[in-house]
Amino acid sequence: MQRRSFLALGFTWWPFHHPYVTLSGVPFHVLRYRHSNRRYLFIHGNEETARQLLTNWMYTHPGIAYLVTGKTRNVEIMGARLDPNRMFSRVGAEANLRKLNPSWSAEKIGPVLDYLDKHREELLKHLTPPPGGVTIALHNNNEGYNVNEEVADSDRISIKQPDKPHEFFLCTHPADFAIIAKSPYNVVLQNEKPRADDGSLSRLAAVRGFRYVNLETTLGQFEEQMARLQWIHTHIS
Ligand SMILES: [Zn+2]
Repeated sequence: MQRRSFLALGFTWWPFHHPYVTLSGVPFHVLRYRHSNRRYLFIHGNEETARQLLTNWMYTHPGIAYLVTGKTRNVEIMGARLDPNRMFSRVGAEANLRKLNPSWSAEKIGPVLDYLDKHREELLKHLTPPPGGVTIALHNNNEGYNVNEEVADSDRISIKQPDKPHEFFLCTHPADFAIIAKSPYNVVLQNEKPRADDGSLSRLAAVRGFRYVNLETTLGQFEEQMARLQWIHTHIS
C-alpha cells in the first residue's frame, strides 16, 4: 500500500480527530483537549500573539479550538478578498466584499454570497457552544481599534483600565458581563441594543442568544492577553 492511501485510510478511521477542517471555504486547524463545552476561535491570521497563546493554551485546557491556518487578516473566497469576521451574515459579508473588492460587480459578488449562505450553518455548528457553554474568540489590535469605539454600540460598559483602551472584553451575555465587570479589566456587553449588522460573530451571537466572549489585546502583549484569558477561565462557568 502506498503511503498516501494509508494516510487517507487513517483519517477515515478516526474522523473526529481530523486536525484540519475547511468551513465556509476557510481552512482551520482544530485543537482538542479532553471534553468541555468551551469553544475557542482564532480567526484573523495576522494576529500572531493570539495564535501563539491559544495554541499553548489548548495543551492544558479542555475544549475545542478553531485556528485559521492563513497568516493574513483577510481570506480568499472564490477569488474574492473577505474579512472572515464579516462572513457571519449575508448583509455584513456583502458590505465587506464590496469594500475589499471594489472592481467586482454585483453579479460577481452574488455567487460568493450564495456560497457563504450555503455553508454558514455548517460553520456555526462548529463555532456555536454546546448548551451551557461559551465561545471565546481571541483577537489582537495594532493600537488603533479600542474599547471606546464599542461604547456607543454597547448595552453596558465597565472601564476599569481607561489607560489601557486596547485591552478589553466584549461579551453577549448579561451574566458573563456581571462577572467580568468585577475583574480589574475593561468589558462591554452587546446584547439587546439594535446595531448595524456588520457580519461579525459577536453580532450573530447576540442575535441568536449564545454566549460569546471576545478578548482583544494589543498585538505582542502576550502576558496581558494570557492574564485576561486566565481570569475568565477561572471566573466564568
Ligand atoms: Zn481580529
